Order: sequence, then structure tokens, then C-alpha cells
Amino acid sequence: MAPEANPDDFLFLADDTDALEATDQTVGEWQLLIVDDDEEIHTVTQLALSDVVVEGRKLVFHHAYSGKEAIKFLAEHDNIALVLLDVVMETDDAGLKVVEQIRDELKLEDTRIILRTGQPGYAPEESVIKEYDINDYKTKTELTRSKLVTTIIASIRSYQQIRTINQNRIGLQKIINAGANLLEQHSLHEFSEGVVTQIASLIGLNAEGVLCAQIEDDGSNADTIYVLGAAGHYAPFIKCRLERIDNKRIIQQINACLQSRKNIFTEKDTTLFLGAEHHGAAVYLETNRPIEDFDRQLIEVFLSNISVGYENVTLFQQLRHAAYIDPLTKTPNRNEFTCLLADTRQLGAKDSVAVLIDINHFSDVNDGLGQEVGNELLIAITQRLVQEFGNDAQIGRIGADVFGMIGSEKVLTPQALDTIFLEPFQASEHSLQVDATYGFCRLSDSSEQGLAILKHVYIALNRAKKNISRNYEYYQQQMEDETAERLALLRTLRQDFALDRLQLWYQPQICLKNRKVIGMEALLRWPQPGGGFVSPAVFIPLAEYFGLIVEIGAWVLQQACLQLKELERQGFKDLRIAVNVSMPQFRSPHFVESVIHCVGEYQVKPELLELEITESVVMDDPKVVISALKELQSFGIKVAIDDFGIGFSSLSYLQQLPLDRIKIDRVFVNDIEKANGAAIAETIVNLGKRLGLHTIAEGVETVAQERVILAMGCDEVQGFLYAKPMAKDELVAFIQQQKK
Ligand code: C2E
Ligand code: MG
Ligand code: MG
Repeated sequence: MAPEANPDDFLFLADDTDALEATDQTVGEWQLLIVDDDEEIHTVTQLALSDVVVEGRKLVFHHAYSGKEAIKFLAEHDNIALVLLDVVMETDDAGLKVVEQIRDELKLEDTRIILRTGQPGYAPEESVIKEYDINDYKTKTELTRSKLVTTIIASIRSYQQIRTINQNRIGLQKIINAGANLLEQHSLHEFSEGVVTQIASLIGLNAEGVLCAQIEDDGSNADTIYVLGAAGHYAPFIKCRLERIDNKRIIQQINACLQSRKNIFTEKDTTLFLGAEHHGAAVYLETNRPIEDFDRQLIEVFLSNISVGYENVTLFQQLRHAAYIDPLTKTPNRNEFTCLLADTRQLGAKDSVAVLIDINHFSDVNDGLGQEVGNELLIAITQRLVQEFGNDAQIGRIGADVFGMIGSEKVLTPQALDTIFLEPFQASEHSLQVDATYGFCRLSDSSEQGLAILKHVYIALNRAKKNISRNYEYYQQQMEDETAERLALLRTLRQDFALDRLQLWYQPQICLKNRKVIGMEALLRWPQPGGGFVSPAVFIPLAEYFGLIVEIGAWVLQQACLQLKELERQGFKDLRIAVNVSMPQFRSPHFVESVIHCVGEYQVKPELLELEITESVVMDDPKVVISALKELQSFGIKVAIDDFGIGFSSLSYLQQLPLDRIKIDRVFVNDIEKANGAAIAETIVNLGKRLGLHTIAEGVETVAQERVILAMGCDEVQGFLYAKPMAKDELVAFIQQQKK
């Protein structure tokens, strides 16, 4: 003990202070490690320094009782500002070994060291002090409280300076690396995600946060804030509107930051403004602690460094925008929608569903009122979709009149979508009432990604379009299997047609009065390699669906004309042939001319050719069909309405139709012996008489049926009772036999 020391000043007499607890918190404190094998030294040092505050921060003490312990502790804690180190512990130079290890092995360059020893004789060489960057060396007796405090303050200050310099160096390096990384990103989303991650790593956090920007939604609306990049548990919200994040705090901070164009640091989070000239963005980070000044500076340097990058990347984005955003509705186009689907799928969003909304008869609006009005209708529909579902779903325009949405299955239901179309839409001065068809695909029901999911939704949509009882369908795997089968069948049909393997058979039609053959219906047959035929009920709808019926129909017409010619040669000059015609044929350009041309080419009498159309064909597009038939009829060609009575046809159309013959559907003939069945058949016959048309009963199988039909006054019959459809060679034999 030094006699000259003032007892009050002496270390061992230092004031008592509150017990101190070491905490994990690093902000606002300096971490000190006391290393000494003398328990008492720990106590008195801590007591002496307990109320010391350096640069506004308290001291926190950690303790080690041997060199080994000290190294172990330091290996696990790299934030120790100062080590008060006893030289002599387990060995005479244990403390010096610790110094060596701190600098050489642990590479803790910032940490300050004060060596203390009880024995002046054990003072280290000056070289050691220099070599290992030791701040001070004192014998314990020299170390009065005030001296200790002074030394400690000086050491901590130097720690702070060294640390700032070193961190600046590291920080700058990080900024340069991060910046370089980011500038390579040409996609705004990748860039934004990078920014969140880089800032988090600059300040030593796990990345949890979002980057949002105000994006011009469309000309009329105010800017909307979108999440451009996100890390951690906010990742699912990338590309969504900010409001979709179910966290009021984030929404509030981002809005405040974008408005004030300033960084906002709080106890639990940090919101940074990323200023580009035109497009401000805000980065929100969940820090759960205040950010140190030093880190703030680092972040600020980083932000100014990447602002330029952000500006560049938004330019890129604008270019990209053009490729991914539908210019009319300003919503994602098919490409972008496909990406969105892939993203949603990747995130394993469980109850997500994708929907396609097809506007029914949109082409009527376009053709009838002009493209301008059509466009306005599409915009009005988009606006209503956004208004209704914008916060819950992503919306895009996938095709001319097809919209897509991705969102929760609970929100996007057929019923919810129906409400969109309840009220008419305003387009220019027109108030347009439209309805739509929906195809759904639950993302969990599809093992596919992006484009393939879109295909699935389309399958469902196409199904829904054919469904007459409701306007939606959910995708099911089995649909695709069926579609695959249908496609395979179509392929072979196309092939066999090209190889001339289809045949045209004929079913005779009989006049009931004289039992003579008056004509025949031409019916397609598709023979199969193993014998047997694919039913026309199967392949005709397929050929209609894929448009192949147009070519096949033209061939049928030629065959029928050839057959008429052949019959003429055989001496049957007034036998008529009825040919079935489908809707796609009417829609194909120059259908009327092609029929007339065919009749002319084979030089057959037009009145021997009869076209059979069903009620559904008429109803599909009455204008087109009626005008075509009128033209054909004026040329002499006959027209029969097929399967009459089952298509709920509107009588008003029946009056407008240029008809020669009504064919009573075989369903009614089948039921003709029952009271109700007979009533319908009789009504049809009477209707025919009223309109001055012939009536022919289809599917007559029994003599009993024939008797009733005859009694009703029906003129003609066709059915198995008289003849089944037969190949052309058999037909001639059949007619000849009948003549006898
Ligand atoms: P459809 O025009 O109503 O033809 C009459 C159908 O009734 C034929 O069936 C015929 O075989 C069948 N049938 C005739 N008499 C009887 C009978 O007494 N009992 C029963 N149970 N059935 C009878 P098929 O040949 O299977 O043709 C089915 C449908 O395919 C036709 O109905 C027609 O809509 C369509 N089709 C056939 N050939 C052509 C064609 O060349 N072009 C077009 N567009 N459609 C065709
Ligand atoms: Mg027919
Ligand atoms: Mg029929």
C-alpha cells in the first residue's frame, strides 16, 4: 500500500455502489472484463468503477479468474471494450499469455488492455507493451481509484475511436460490396429484396423487413404503395399492396416515412427513406432495439450510395413494365400473371385459388358498339374487380376478354364473382349488362408451376363454358385426363380423315302414303382398325370443338353430291339427300358460296340437297344462320330443322327461318305410345301443317309407333323399322329392292 495515497482515493475504500448486472445489451454500455485470480480485486474494482459513466454510457463488468477462463470468455464475446488483466495468475506470465492470445489468436484488435500486477518485479518488458498494443501497465498499489478511472476513461475513448475507424473500414467495404451486388440486379424485386437483406446485415440483424414504393397505379388513381422486396416472414407479400400486410405498425411507419421523406428510428424499428428523384421508397426493418449512432451513419452512407442504383433499377423496371403490364387495364398481363402464379405456388399458399373470368359475348360489344366502347368496358370491369378484390387478390388481364385473379379460396368464390356482374358497367354513354364464365384451380390441387397452372385454369374455364347449368367449374385432375384423351382422339380423327378413312353412310327416308323411298340422310361413319365404329355422337362434337368439322363437312357435302350423281346414273332422278350442318360451318367464311359451288360443280339439282340444322345451331347465332339459309334456299336448296322439340327453340325464330321440313326428334317418337309423348309429337305435326312444312318422324322402330304417327298425319318417316344407316353400295341395292 502506498503511504502517500489518500485513503478516500484508495481503491479498496471506494464508495459502495448498487450491485451491477451484466446484460446482453450492447447499446449504451461499455463491456469490461476483469481478469484476476484474486476474488477481492474483482469486488473492489467493480465497486470503485460502479458509478463511472464514459461518453454517456455505463460500464458492465464481466469476470474471469484465470488466463484460460479469460480467453474462453473473450472467444465468445467480441464486444469487450476493455480488459483489466492481472499478470500473475496460474503462472507468472499467465496475463502476458492472455495478451498474446487476444491479439494473435482471437485477433481482437479493438479491445483495450490494462495490465495490473501486485509485484513490481513482474513488470513486463516494454517490448511486450509495445508489441501487443497494451494501453497501460500499473502495479495494483499504484492504482488509486482516480487513477484507475482516468486510465479507464482514456482506454475506453481510444477503444471507441479505434472501433469507429475499423468499423468504418469494414462498413465501407460492406457498402461497396453490397452496392456492387445490388447494381447487378436489374429486377426491381431482386434489388429491393437485396436492399432489405444488405441493410439488415450492415447492422447485424437477421433480415426481417420490407421495401415499399409508391407506384403509379393508373392515370386516374393516386399512387398505391406496393411491397417491392421483402425478407424473412414478410416475403410472401412481395408484389402485393402494402395494406395486405396484416401489421398496422408497418403500414403506419412506411406511410410516415414516404410522406416525410426522412428516416425514422425508434426503439423497436427503423424505417428508412430511399430517395430517388421520382420514385421514393421506404425500407422498414424490425430491429427490436434502437440502432446505434454508428450504424445509423453506416445506413445513411449506404442509402445515399444505392439511391442511384435504385433510380437505375426503376428505369429498368419501367422498360420491363411494358413487357409485363397490360397497357389498357394497367394490371399484370399474361406473362406477369404466370410469374405471380409461380410465386404463390412456391410460397405454398395453402388455400390459394387461381381464377379466370371470361366475359360472355364480349365480341358482340366490340363488333356492335366499337372497339373504344369495348376497351372502356374492360377498364370498367377491371376497376370493379380491383375495388372488390384488390386488397385480397392479385388481378391481371390474361387475354382480350379474360381476367385472372389469385387469392384466397374463401374470398374468390363463384358467388362473390357473380356480384361483380350484378350491376351494369358504364362504357362511354352505354350502360352494359354483361355476365361471365369462371374457371377455378385450387393451387393445392395442381402439382404444376406457373404456366401449367394457367393451363389447368383454362381447362376448367373451357369446361364451364360448355356447362349449361352453371357458369363455373373447378379444375380436377380427371378433366385433364379427359382432355388428353380427347386430344389423342382428335389427332387420330385428323389423321384418318386425311387418309380418307371416313365413310358417308345413308339412312333411307320413306313416304308413309306410298311406302316409297323419297330420300336419305347422310351420316358419317368412322371405322376403327379392329372393326366397329366410333359413334358420331362422340367424334362430331370433338370435330366441332376443334373446328375440324369445317373440312369434314365440306367433304360430306361433296360425297353427298357425288352420291346424288351416282343415284341419277342408276335411274333414281328425284331422290333427295339430307346433310347435317354444324355451327362452325356457318361461321366459316364463304360457307354459302362453297355449298352453291359444290352443287354447281357436280351438276346436281339444288332441290335434291337438303341441309339439316338443329335448333341449337339456330339459337347460337340466329342472324348469321338465318341469312345464310335464306340465300341457300333462294338458290333452291332445301332446309330441314333437325331434332325438333328438344332445343326449346323460340317460335319467333321458327317463323323467320326459311324451312321446308321439320324432323320430330326420336325422343318423342319413342314416347309416342304414352299420352304426353304423343301430345308433343302431335303438336309438332300440327305446327308443321300450319307453317306449310313437311314433317318427318325420326327413329321409328316399331309398327305401333308407325301407326300413331300415321294417325297424326305425319308424312314421312326414318328409322330402324325401315332401314338402318348403310354404306352406299348397300343403299342402291336397298332402293332397287324397294322398287320391286
Ligand atoms: P341426327 O342428325 O339426328 O341423325 C339421326 C341419328 O339417329 C343417327 O345417329 C341415326 O343412326 C340414328 N337413328 C336413325 N334411326 C334410328 C332408330 O330407329 N333408332 C335409333 N335408336 N336411332 C336411329 P348417328 O348416325 O349415330 O348420328 C348421330 C348424330 O351425329 C346425328 O344426329 C348428327 O347430329 C351427327 N352427324 C352424323 N353425321 C354428320 C355429318 O355428316 N355432319 C354433321 N355435322 N353431323 C353429323
Ligand atoms: Mg340429322
Ligand atoms: Mg335428328
